[in-house]
Amino acid sequence: MGSRTVTSKQIEVQRIVDALSKAIAQHRLRPGTRLIEAQIVEALKANRNHVQSALQRLAMQRIVTIEPNRGALVSQPSAKEARDVFAARRAIERAIVESITPEAMREHRQRTAAHMRSERKATNASDRRDIVRELSEFHLMLGEISGNTVLAEILGNLMVRSSLIVALYQRNDQPACASDEHEQIVSALEQGDRDKAIRVMIEHLDELEAQLALEELAEPEVDIRQILSDL
Ligand SMILES: [Zn+2]
Repeated sequence: MGSRTVTSKQIEVQRIVDALSKAIAQHRLRPGTRLIEAQIVEALKANRNHVQSALQRLAMQRIVTIEPNRGALVSQPSAKEARDVFAARRAIERAIVESITPEAMREHRQRTAAHMRSERKATNASDRRDIVRELSEFHLMLGEISGNTVLAEILGNLMVRSSLIVALYQRNDQPACASDEHEQIVSALEQGDRDKAIRVMIEHLDELEAQLALEELAEPEVDIRQILSDL
């Protein structure tokens, strides 16, 4: 710490973190999947130490859970955590949309246009993994266009966690995001109508959350003594 030199170890750990995050975000590794170190070492041709550091870093990001004596597994966020992640996304993505200027949109015009094309293509081809990747890519792209690297970084973490949440709680097998809402957000931003862009983004996130079955069974608040004495 303290030194800003990026060591080869850091680069290698980041490579493993990125590979696992991507597999988790794309639902290739589903919540609850056991992450066996030896298999990751083999698949990524990585060193065991680096894999351990990567798993620890993912655990700090709440993407992986490390259980004493049982090793690492892909996290299974609770319904409460799912709601908290969506509340955080509303705050962060509002801030992202707020900081995107029409100039920034002009500067990134080609990129947004190319993204919207591949999003439509994925949706039409209905390959679920492609769709999941493209739809989440949209949100990350706005983070980058905002130019605020801190907001973009926080969103990166929230998007992987959202992906876990969708894998666990999505009611039907439909892709979470709707492309036309994405298009409305892009065109509002291009026209400099940030209020509209924010409104559509918030509605969009509300809609995504509403598609989740988050009625987790609350700990029943029952008094067993009372119930048994009433018999
Ligand atoms: Zn979306």
